[in-house]
Amino acid sequence: MVNFGSNNYLGLATHPEVIAAAQEAAGAEGTGTGASRLLSGNQSGYRRLEATLADWKGTESALVFSSGFAAAVGAIPALAGPGDAVACDRLAHASLLDGARLSRARLLVYPHADPAALDRVLARQRRRFRRVLVVTDGLFSMDGDICPLPELIAVAERHDARLLVDDAHATGVLGGGGGGTLEHFGVAGVDRVVQMGTLSKALGSAGGFIAGPDVLREWLVNRARTLVFSTGVPASSLAAAGAAVGLARRQAWRRTRLRELSVRVRGAARAAGLVVPEGDTPVIPVMLGDEHRAMRWMDAMLARGLFVPGVRPPTVPAGGSRLRISLMATHTDEHAGRLVETLAAFAGREPS
Ligand SMILES: *Cc1c(COP(=O)(O)O)cnc(C)c1O
Repeated sequence: MVNFGSNNYLGLATHPEVIAAAQEAAGAEGTGTGASRLLSGNQSGYRRLEATLADWKGTESALVFSSGFAAAVGAIPALAGPGDAVACDRLAHASLLDGARLSRARLLVYPHADPAALDRVLARQRRRFRRVLVVTDGLFSMDGDICPLPELIAVAERHDARLLVDDAHATGVLGGGGGGTLEHFGVAGVDRVVQMGTLSKALGSAGGFIAGPDVLREWLVNRARTLVFSTGVPASSLAAAGAAVGLARRQAWRRTRLRELSVRVRGAARAAGLVVPEGDTPVIPVMLGDEHRAMRWMDAMLARGLFVPGVRPPTVPAGGSRLRISLMATHTDEHAGRLVETLAAFAGREPS
């Protein structure tokens, strides 16, 4: 079975250096941290990894959480509360939405990747709120498109809002050094922008993080409930992520390979008449519409040795069911060839 359903984009979860780092850390520090970081669980690997992440992301500091989901649900209520507003892209990830709900700030939803619409929403509503936090995915998890970051920052500046960019899928994938959406657009880290990421996708480990100014880190250490009241990730996960960041930064060929594969798969699928957006990111939706159709295509792919998950509501909007292809830098030309041949065959003759 060839796996086209993993967010291990760079193939680092099985890299010998990453595995060795995890093994060594488990040998030295044990398999669990035993307590919340604020109690006694703050093992030495945290500071090392946080310094590495901050350097990569171009920020003063970073703070590691036990997952990306925990980072979102911890950070958003620490940055917005009653009397404030969270303005959320309509296709933002569930963790951002849940963070916004938990914050008890007013939720404003703006149309997908539409900074002009966000600008209009804030022009009408901004004065009703004390603070406004705009939240968006960097690289959208189900559509594979990239948020219009420079325009979103301009809107946030105009309305004195903060912007949280969830780079769960962009970390390691976008930007020359894999730094993510800011690096992709050549935007330097500014205090107004909070970067979120996960260790669990391209970095092949487990855990999440927030990167930003020192004062933000201090604030979150005191206010983010998912940090204060949750046991930290084990030393092995921290060490694995640290090794993976090193490889991700050094080995740009992994990103080049992903882009090549993406252009090839998208081009072949479109040539076969399938509805696939243009682009070169490793998340490729094949839009099928009906959820039963998406499940039939997934089953037929499985029967041919290809794992390509079908995605249906509530993960995507009604009528937006699809196959979601995730590419990995370690997929071979033969893997990609089998995928595009099968997609073209199904485009010609609908699987039943
Ligand atoms: C996966 C994901 C998360 C959550 O990260 P985990 O480390 O898996 O908890 C957050 N945001 C987005 C956009 C994601 O795709």
